[in-house]
Amino acid sequence: MSFSAAADQIADRVRQVQKDIPASVRLIAVSKKFPAAAVRSAYEMGIRDFGESQVQEAEQKQAELADLPDLTWHLIGHLQSNKARKAIAQFQWIHSVDSLRLAQRLDQIAAELGRSPQCCLQVKIVPDPAKYGFTVSELMQALPELNQLHSLRLVGLMTIPPYGLAAAATQAVFEQLRHLQETINQQQLQQVHIKHLSMGMSGDYPLAIAAGTTMIRLGTRLFGQRHA
Ligand SMILES: *Cc1c(COP(=O)(O)O)cnc(C)c1O
Repeated sequence: MSFSAAADQIADRVRQVQKDIPASVRLIAVSKKFPAAAVRSAYEMGIRDFGESQVQEAEQKQAELADLPDLTWHLIGHLQSNKARKAIAQFQWIHSVDSLRLAQRLDQIAAELGRSPQCCLQVKIVPDPAKYGFTVSELMQALPELNQLHSLRLVGLMTIPPYGLAAAATQAVFEQLRHLQETINQQQLQQVHIKHLSMGMSGDYPLAIAAGTTMIRLGTRLFGQRHA
């Protein structure tokens, strides 16, 4: 397939998705494993928010797209602490703050670099030893220490439901994340005030919208199948 055909397809898909989502929901186009040209096609359709899972892959793409001045980059994958400095330099949003240690490290680097990225705390609503993220009780326990961090803007919660979960169970996960937001905000902490929910991917985003998400992260729905 030539890239102009791909560009037309991306344009159609963006148009279809935009019809389905309320204006209150921010669409993040997950461009991991897709070339810079795919980002340009989505950009032409008005998309400005792009998600990447890996710092290194993003770095290359961002260099190729340096002529587009108004992109917002979202890191959505697990971050190793040796890449934390690059992540702070390259991303305006980090959705995958998945441990207290990582949050503390990122905060220290953000302070050094004079940055204040917006961050989501990644939560495992359903226990899953194979996944990164705070359990709900770990997050509640970490709140006093997270509340000491002054450079990160801790404004969101992110979750990824376990793969293959039925629709009703997925819906329940999304609703629990929204309840967790309320529980946290009731504490009226200075540094942790949750305004955003990052939940919903290609297979389940209508459920996330129904549950009140503010950000959805769509890859295949916009760009087609990824090749590993
Ligand atoms: C890859 C990825 C997405 C996008 O997944 P699709 O199913 O292709 O929409 C969203 N969020 C995270 C964290 C991802 O890693």
